[in-house]
Amino acid sequence: MIEVCKGDITKMDVDIIVNAANKKLIGGGGVDGAIHRAAGKNLLEECKTLGGCEVGEAKMTLGYNLKAKRVIHTVGPYYKDGNHNEKELLSNCYKNSILLAEKYRLENSLENVSVAFPCISTGLYRYPFNEACSIAYKTVKENINPHIKVIFVCFSDSDYKTYENKIKEND
Ligand code: ADP
Repeated sequence: MIEVCKGDITKMDVDIIVNAANKKLIGGGGVDGAIHRAAGKNLLEECKTLGGCEVGEAKMTLGYNLKAKRVIHTVGPYYKDGNHNEKELLSNCYKNSILLAEKYRLENSLENVSVAFPCISTGLYRYPFNEACSIAYKTVKENINPHIKVIFVCFSDSDYKTYENKIKEND
């Protein structure tokens, strides 16, 4: 199941939220900073033990003070001009995050798992929103299974409308 909502991802009552992190996994601006502030300093302590994360890869931590039980940290590509493998790298973020969520579900013998994604790379990393939305939606659709619910969390009205239209187009 794929849904979209408008709001602050740190408030989501889901099993897992995804963080648009940086390679060092040391927190930062945008959604990354918001998640670290809401989760508390233990999140940073755990992140420091992970040895960083490559672009397109994903690593999981506990959720600490968040409602979410886990945080998946994935590093989106910085958008240069579209000729630097940005599309594949952004797609890998969604794919690897879903693989980790499914691994978490199986390891904990859960029937279902809910995962909230922010719009990775579309802030400071400057990925054009429409294109990033298409990649996110397509990749999730191709990698999801009936035990996984994905919610795209949009921060602005226009981002929300872009996702809503994308989902309607594909219904
Ligand atoms: P990146 O560096 O991957 O571009 P940003 O955090 O700058 O990451 O932006 C990614 C997206 O997250 C943007 O669409 C931004 O509007 C959104 N965003 C920022 N804060 C939040 C939040 N608290 N909840 C959900 N989305 C957020």
